[in-house]
Amino acid sequence: MEKTLHIAILPSPGMGHLIPMAEFAKRLVQHHHISATIIIPTTGAPPKAQISVLESLPENIHHLFLQPVNVEGLPDDSRPEILISFIMQTSLSSLRDALSSLKSKTKLVALVFDMFGHDSMEVGKEFNLFNFLFFPMNAMALSFTFIVPKLDEETSCEYKDLPYPVKVPGSVSFHGRELMAPVQVRTDEVYKGYLLLSKRLSLLDGILINSFEELEEETFRVLRGQIAGKTPVYPIGPLIQSGPSNGPDRHECLKWLDDQPSGSVLLVSFGSGGTLSLEQVHELAHGLEMSSHRFLWIVRSPDRDSNASYFSASSQNDPLGFLPKGFLARTINRGLTVPSWGPQIEILSHEATGGFLTHCGWNSTLESIVHGVPMIAWPLYAEQHMNARVMTETLCLALRLETDENGIFRKEEIEKVVKELMEGDEGKKISKRLKELKNSAMKALSVGGSSMESLSKFALQLNK
Ligand code: UDP
Repeated sequence: MEKTLHIAILPSPGMGHLIPMAEFAKRLVQHHHISATIIIPTTGAPPKAQISVLESLPENIHHLFLQPVNVEGLPDDSRPEILISFIMQTSLSSLRDALSSLKSKTKLVALVFDMFGHDSMEVGKEFNLFNFLFFPMNAMALSFTFIVPKLDEETSCEYKDLPYPVKVPGSVSFHGRELMAPVQVRTDEVYKGYLLLSKRLSLLDGILINSFEELEEETFRVLRGQIAGKTPVYPIGPLIQSGPSNGPDRHECLKWLDDQPSGSVLLVSFGSGGTLSLEQVHELAHGLEMSSHRFLWIVRSPDRDSNASYFSASSQNDPLGFLPKGFLARTINRGLTVPSWGPQIEILSHEATGGFLTHCGWNSTLESIVHGVPMIAWPLYAEQHMNARVMTETLCLALRLETDENGIFRKEEIEKVVKELMEGDEGKKISKRLKELKNSAMKALSVGGSSMESLSKFALQLNK
C-alpha cells in the first residue's frame, strides 16, 4: 500500500511556538492525507505544559524528544534568544539522526521549522526535503523581516537612532526603537541570526504564517506582489490551542468567572514570559483598583527583565507577597489574582470576560480575536511594540496606554484606559469590530475559507 506523506515539525523551545505548530499539524492531518512527527529540542525533562500539549495530539501526529542539550556552559543571565539559538544549533546532529530514522520508516517529504530553526535548512536539504518556515507572528512582521537585509545594507547606525521612520511594505511606518527586539543591537549575535534568517527567506520552499487574509489583507497583497518574490506565503491561521489548555480539571478561576456578570471582567496577562518591575506592578494594581472594574490578573513576581519567566513561566518567590499592602483585601469582591499561569483561552472564551489587557504576543492577540474580546495594548518585548501599533492604529482592536517620561504606565492612565475599554464609546467600537473579525476568523478556518484553501495549496505543493 502507498505510504501517506509525512512531515517533520521542529518547534524551538517555549510554548509560544509549540502550540500553533501543533495546531497546524492537527489541521493538516485532519484535512489531508498526511501524517507528522513533532521533533522537540530539549535541555532535560520537558515541562508539564509541553507534555500535556503533546499527549493531547491525535495518533497520526507522533512526537520525539531530541537528545538534551547541556546549557551549563552558558552564562546564567543568557537571554532567552541566545539560549534558544544555542539549543537549536547544538541539536542539529541529533536532528540529523531523527530525520534519517524517520526517512527510513515514512514517506518524509518536508521539514517545517520556526525562526530559530533556520539552520536546519541545510539538514533538510541533505535529506532532499522541502524546507518550510512556520512564521508564528503576523504578516506585518514577515513583511518587515523581508526588508531587513536592505535596511542592514543602507543603515550605518543602530536603527533606534535613525532620524526617519522605517516603512514596512503593506503596513505602517515604525520608529527604529519600536522595531522587534532581535534587530535592536546590530553587533549582537541575535541580530546576526535574524539577518541570516531574513536573507534565507528567498531560499525557502514556502512560509506558513499564523494569520489570515481578512485580518491583514493589504499586507498580504503587498507581500505577495512586491516582497516575497517566488516564495509562496500561506496564511493558515488563526491557529490557537483547541481543547482545554489546563487539563480536564476545571481551574478555580473559571469557577470564579461563573459568578461574575457577562462581559464584566478584564483579563490581565502578559503571556508565557512577561514580567514587570516592582514599581510597574504597583502602578498596575492601583490602576485596576481605581478603575472599579472586575479583573482577573495572572500575576508574576516582579523582575528587572520583561521576559524573565520565558522558560519557567512561574513566579520566582512568594507568589503574591509583592503586591501593594492591602490590595488583595480591598479588591476581594471584584478581583482575582492567579499566580504565574492560568488557562488563558478558557478565560477568554468565558462569557464573563469582557476585556483583555495584553502584552500583545501574537498568540494572545489571535486568541482574543477568535473569542471577540477587546484589548488594551501593553507591549513588553519581542515584536510586541510593532504589534501594538498595528492593533491600535490599523486594525482598531485595542486601546493604547501611554507611558510617562520614564517609560512607566501610571495608575491614572491605567484607570482611564480600563474604564474606556469596559464602559466607554471607544471600547464599544472595538467590541463591534471584534465581533466582525471573530466571524471572519471562523470563516477563514471553515471549509472553503481562505486559511483552509491556503492549507490545501500547501498540501498540494507537498505532493509535487
Ligand atoms: N498562556 C496561558 N496562560 C498564561 C499565560 C500564557 O495559557 O498564564 C498562553 C497563551 O494563551 C498563549 C501563549 O501562552 O497561547 C503565549 O503566547 P504569546 O504569543 O501571546 O506570548 P509569548 O508567551 O510568546 O510572549
